[in-house]
Parts: sequence; C-alpha cells; structure tokens
Amino acid sequence: MKLVLLGPPGAGKGTQASLIEKEYDIPHISTGDMLREAVKQGTELGRRAESYMTKGELVPDQVVIGIVSECLRQPEYEKGFMLDGFPRTVAQAEALDKALSENGDCLDAVMSFEVPDEELVRRLSARRVCGSCGVTYGATDSKTCGKCEGELITRADDQTEAIERRLEVYRAQTAPLIDYYDRAGVLVRIPATGSVEQIFGLVKEKLKGLEDG
Ligand code: AMP
Repeated sequence: MKLVLLGPPGAGKGTQASLIEKEYDIPHISTGDMLREAVKQGTELGRRAESYMTKGELVPDQVVIGIVSECLRQPEYEKGFMLDGFPRTVAQAEALDKALSENGDCLDAVMSFEVPDEELVRRLSARRVCGSCGVTYGATDSKTCGKCEGELITRADDQTEAIERRLEVYRAQTAPLIDYYDRAGVLVRIPATGSVEQIFGLVKEKLKGLEDG
C-alpha cells in the first residue's frame, strides 16, 4: 500500500504512522525525522536545512524532493510505503506523482488528519521529545525518556513563534494539497481530535475500506 499522511503540525501524523507501521508492516518515511537526523549528524544536508527548520519555514522543494526520490528508489519501498510530512507543497506532490508514474504506480490513499488550530497549538506547546532516541511525548511531567532515560526537551520548532509560523506555512503551502488529492480521488478525511486509540480506530476502518476496495 502506498500512503501519504497529510495534516498540520501537531495533527498526530507521526504517532499514527508508528501505529500503522507496527500493525500493517508498511515502512514509514518521515522527512522531518530524516532532516532532524541530518542536523544532529552535522551533514551538508543538515547544515542547509537547520535554519529553515528552526524558524518553522519549509526546507526548499528541490532539497526535499531530492531526498525523497532517492529514498523511494530503495528496494524496501517497492511494495509500499507511508510518507509522513511529504509532500508539503504542490510542487512536491507533482514530483511525487511523476516519480511514481514513471514506474506505472500511483498513491492508494492520502489520509488527511483534521484538527482545529487551538488544539494544534495546545498539543505542540506541550510536546516533548527525547534528545537521545527522538521518541515523542505529548503532555508529560517527566524529565526523562521512558525508553532510554535520555533527557526530554522541547523541539526548537515547537517554541511559540515557530509554532505560529509553521501553522501559517501549513495553511498557505500545504493545505492546498487537500483539494489537489480530493480532485485526484484519493483523499480520505480523518477527524483527528479524539484519543490516539480512537483516531487509530478510524484509520483502521479507512484502511480496511481501501483493502476491501
Ligand atoms: P515535521 O517533523 O514533519 O513537522 O518537520 C519538521 C520540519 O522539517 C518542518 O517544519 C520543515 O522545516 C522541515 N520539513 C519536513 N518535511 C518537509 C517537506 N516535505 N518540505 C519542506 N520542509 C520539510
């Protein structure tokens, strides 16, 4: 199955992607995780991406399209994949369509996670990540990671100003993809305001609908 998870920052795409990966064995590709890893490793890509990411801006299309195209050429993604955080612009969506159609492929579904803005700001402000292993936590009083005991930190782009900017960027550049994929007939809307388990229940229903055709 070839899936895209679409939605504003804080919609829970990463959390649902991990659950989908476990239950359905569909490999998860997160451009945000790849870019954060590149920043952490101090690679050339990381150096180019860091200032955009800290400000809540998008990394330029040609950079991100390059990483994803390279990634999708790996044999492990031939049977299926789930893209999380890509595409984020119409140019990226067109590049993805082109890369897939060159192999006679297309997307099976684009899941659009829908959450009101106030809830997104609340979730992003409360979010903490482990500085060592990168696991994400919602609101937590703990200062250390339950998995590896690393220190829990606030992501640079979860600071208040960057949150506002990321939501603006989402509305201006990414939200048009909802229409783009609706017109392509692959959009699946997920109201994503309940608990993680409730939202995953909806995701499973929709995936079953797709499998049953
Ligand atoms: P995320 O973890 O998906 O929220 O991504 C974190 C940051 O990485 C974003 O705010 C962007 O700066 C950058 N980023 C991730 N994916 C993309 C993309 N598809 N296009 C441009 N920038 C991206």
